[in-house]
Amino acid sequence: MSTTDTSNSPITNRRRGTLQLWSRTLIPTLREAPAEASTPSHRLMLRAGCIRQVGAGVYDFLPLGMRVLQKVSQIVREEMDAAGASEMLMPAIVPIELYAGTKRDVDYGDLLFKLTDRHGRDAALGPTHEETVTEMAKGSVTSYKQLPLNVYQIQTKFRDEFRPRAGLLRGREFLMKDAYSFHTTVEGDGGLNETYDRMYQAYVNVFTRCGLDFTVVEAEAGPIGGSASHEFMVNAETGEDTILVCPETGYAANVEKCEIGDRDWSFDTDATTDLTKKHTPGMPGIDLVAEHLGVKPEGMLKTIVFAKIGGDKRKYVLATVRGDHDVNEGKVRDVVGFPIALADEKEAKEAGFAIGYVSPRMAATRDDTLLVIDPDATGGVWATGSDEKDHHVTGFIWARDLGADLPTKDQQGGKIRVADVRNAGEGDPSPRLPGAKLVARRGIEVGHIFKLGTKYAQAFDFTVLNEQQKKTTVIMGCYGIGVSRTIAASIEQRHDEWGIIWPVPIAPYHVVITVMDPKNDEQSKLADKLATELVEAGADVLIDDRNERPGVKFKDADLIGLPVRLTIGDKALAENCVEFKLRSEDGKGRLVDIADAVKETLSKLA
Ligand code: ATP
Ligand code: MG
Repeated sequence: MSTTDTSNSPITNRRRGTLQLWSRTLIPTLREAPAEASTPSHRLMLRAGCIRQVGAGVYDFLPLGMRVLQKVSQIVREEMDAAGASEMLMPAIVPIELYAGTKRDVDYGDLLFKLTDRHGRDAALGPTHEETVTEMAKGSVTSYKQLPLNVYQIQTKFRDEFRPRAGLLRGREFLMKDAYSFHTTVEGDGGLNETYDRMYQAYVNVFTRCGLDFTVVEAEAGPIGGSASHEFMVNAETGEDTILVCPETGYAANVEKCEIGDRDWSFDTDATTDLTKKHTPGMPGIDLVAEHLGVKPEGMLKTIVFAKIGGDKRKYVLATVRGDHDVNEGKVRDVVGFPIALADEKEAKEAGFAIGYVSPRMAATRDDTLLVIDPDATGGVWATGSDEKDHHVTGFIWARDLGADLPTKDQQGGKIRVADVRNAGEGDPSPRLPGAKLVARRGIEVGHIFKLGTKYAQAFDFTVLNEQQKKTTVIMGCYGIGVSRTIAASIEQRHDEWGIIWPVPIAPYHVVITVMDPKNDEQSKLADKLATELVEAGADVLIDDRNERPGVKFKDADLIGLPVRLTIGDKALAENCVEFKLRSEDGKGRLVDIADAVKETLSKLA
């Protein structure tokens, strides 16, 4: 190292690495993981002594886990700063009054952790901070000149998940980066779209730097419509989310959002079966009914009742799909062109809908009801509800039983329409290329960016004066990253039967120096010397100085998964060598000259 070396200088990025002795830190490795830990990341993080369970969905981050958490946080921080965002910190406690305008405390329901203080005041532990940040900005920003603004925090979030699962993948207390941006326009300089695009790129940078294989998918659009939301999904078989990809064009979307390419449809049929009413009491779910009727679920129609939100007159929308398909609420909303929600069961029953037994025929007899039929639910003969509790019908034929009200291909837009209103699945036609088919994959959602529009600003009556000195409602975006979930997602992707395989950028240490006999002076001295040089060059080094059998040390080294292992033992020393092994490569290590060991190691950490 030259004398002009600037390591540790506050004005360069050069950083000395960290040196730690295994015997002086806490890495309580386990031979077995508790039986309830079923996913690889959960098992391996427990076994590698990264985390320890404290209660359902809550964990200690032990020193190794903490170092990974810090590294991921730092990557996130650097990319957020580079994208022009400013770090701040909001309290975890959210006074319940803040939800008065958004009613999100009600929407969140049991997911929200609530508490009451000694004075009887209610509060929540923040699941995210849209309300807090909007109130903050409202109190601090009054003019368009202060916008755009993008603030973020890296903070513990609380969600009382019904089924906390898989360790850090779904915790009840977890680390999130949440950013919020504020604008007076959507388009142009300083507009929401500009920041959204920068954040999109920052997210790509974050997950690329973390060494993850991921897919960016279109997600359910917000009030602004269009491509107003994207999720960042780590590709992993163990993921909870299904994403659909068109391999031909690169189109990718989550199930809630995925469009389906053109499907042919027609109500023509030669069938003449009679409409027959059948008694089907107490059968929850389409499968039981289908079995009872002697048909397959794909031979049934499923009709879901939605109600229009807002407006003075009650209006209903029926969506009919094939029995083995699922209605997609967002698609139904887009077809009818107004906001909807699943109809309240009691209200809908009072209005005459036999919930659970509704047939599309209800739309023909009611002025207040629209019907949207999925293309796959047209055609032939069907079994469906009979609009009477505990009864279904078989032999339903669209042309006969709805008749003149049915649309044709060139005559759409009336009371009954045919449109894509179901969730997409594997094998469906790609929406981007005729002939191409969608492929389903599993993913773990590690990030989510969203154009919020004016939803929160309206709820808080947050306006600023624009250039013309006129009040204008502020437009917002929000951007989340599951920092702790990202760690688990990395392990889901990179591990083997022996343990974790950390990517270099987020590894707790870069190098483990395994000293075969720590009592041997020559071995210990060499370990110190190599460690010092590596640390000077910026590497984080862990020396395994424990008085343990070599077999135990090697097993533990594989388990905690540091990228490089240097082993110092008599045999190699006799040849003036150390053993060099990459965690990502199988087999035994190879001998490297002591003089080359540092250079060789650093070249693999670049
Ligand atoms: P999910 O659908 O997985 O429940 P979400 O869509 O409700 O997540 P967001 O509100 O979008 O979550 O939160 C932003 C990010 O926080 C998510 O993309 C995810 O990475 C992370 N996250 C959300 N819930 C949890 C949790 N219970 N444990 C760990 N990370 C979480
Ligand atoms: Mg999300």
